[in-house]
Amino acid sequence: MEDILKETSFEVNNKGFYGHFGGAFIPEMLYPNVEELRENYLQIMNEPEFQAEFRALLADYVGRPTPLFLARRLSEQLNTTIYLKREDLCHTGAHKINNTIGQILVAKRLDKQRIVAETGAGQHGVATATVCALMGLECIVYMGQIDMERQKPNVDRMRMLGATVVPATSGSQTLKDATNEAMRHWINNPVDTHYIIGSVVGPHPYPDMVARFQSVISEEIKKQLTNKVGRPNPDYVVACVGGGSNAAGAFFHYLNEPSVKLVAVEAAGMGLTTGHSAATTALGKPGVLHGSRTILMQTEDGQVTEPYSISAGLDYPGIGPLHAHLFDSGRGDFRAITDEEAVQAAMELSRLEGIIPALESAHAIAVLPKLGLQPNDVVVVCLSGRGDKDLSTYTKYINA
Ligand SMILES: *Cc1c(COP(=O)(O)O)cnc(C)c1O
Repeated sequence: MEDILKETSFEVNNKGFYGHFGGAFIPEMLYPNVEELRENYLQIMNEPEFQAEFRALLADYVGRPTPLFLARRLSEQLNTTIYLKREDLCHTGAHKINNTIGQILVAKRLDKQRIVAETGAGQHGVATATVCALMGLECIVYMGQIDMERQKPNVDRMRMLGATVVPATSGSQTLKDATNEAMRHWINNPVDTHYIIGSVVGPHPYPDMVARFQSVISEEIKKQLTNKVGRPNPDYVVACVGGGSNAAGAFFHYLNEPSVKLVAVEAAGMGLTTGHSAATTALGKPGVLHGSRTILMQTEDGQVTEPYSISAGLDYPGIGPLHAHLFDSGRGDFRAITDEEAVQAAMELSRLEGIIPALESAHAIAVLPKLGLQPNDVVVVCLSGRGDKDLSTYTKYINA
């Protein structure tokens, strides 16, 4: 009986598990930090004053609610009804700020003076530096040396916002090395530092906390769709998955509505069989990554495989434990889209709707023709971010 309940529940249990996935697999040195957060996060998030402050900042600083836009020409082309949830219109250009606003308010209530974060492409680093400036907290962002060179504009943004960007010079000098160094910093400063994780990954309670902050996305979709089509539930919700935070937010209030199909789109990179891919559910196996049991891309002997995607935000070798459970239980429909398909979809959306999407979000657009959509279907696509940051990549394709 208990097993059946577990299989059909998409809420985290009190041990931090979604089905077989989740938990907190952390070095003993980190235990006090994670435990302090675990003991306090729900109580803090449920306080009326916390909710009031969070909601006010979402409205006046982030610019929420973000519009739910009927994409008429795209709908016509696909002979169905497509709505775009415009997370690209959030302050800083993507959904990530919903989470960093929430976490910095938690950090303040835990009396933390300093925020530490790691970033790969720099998007989460910028969202973190932004809220640290807003709240006047010290901000230290670890970033792989190679990523700093590849993503110079985001390094400049973080520095302009007052953050200290520390190069991670060990290993492959990319995201995983930055993660190691940020963890080390946290272990050495457990009392006064909060570590802001940028997706629904990491040890419990991070995946649940981040999903709850991002759940404002589906909360708004339900209201907006009721106004527009007379029912809160679409037939499909579609979102791209790197770690899975925009998807978790877009799916959250539909997890227990079986009539709503949840489509999660991963990056196939150059193709599933090329060895240059980030399609975790297609290529991965269960294992432990960044503090939780999940599905990750790994070699025969369990070494994490270097992922690849044209889009920096999807270039991650794992997925959050909620998504591993959605995949494992069959609740989620996991698809993979190649670089080429994503770029083509970005070109199409730009010309059909006047919206240049982030490369990540373009993966969600690209899957639409493959879903067998019917004329009566109502589809909501989470447009996680805007494409300004990807313009040089798009330009290379246009001119190729
Ligand atoms: C970071 C990012 C993603 C991927 O992160 P998730 O946690 O999977 O949402 C997707 N889209 C954009 C625009 C991003 O910046």
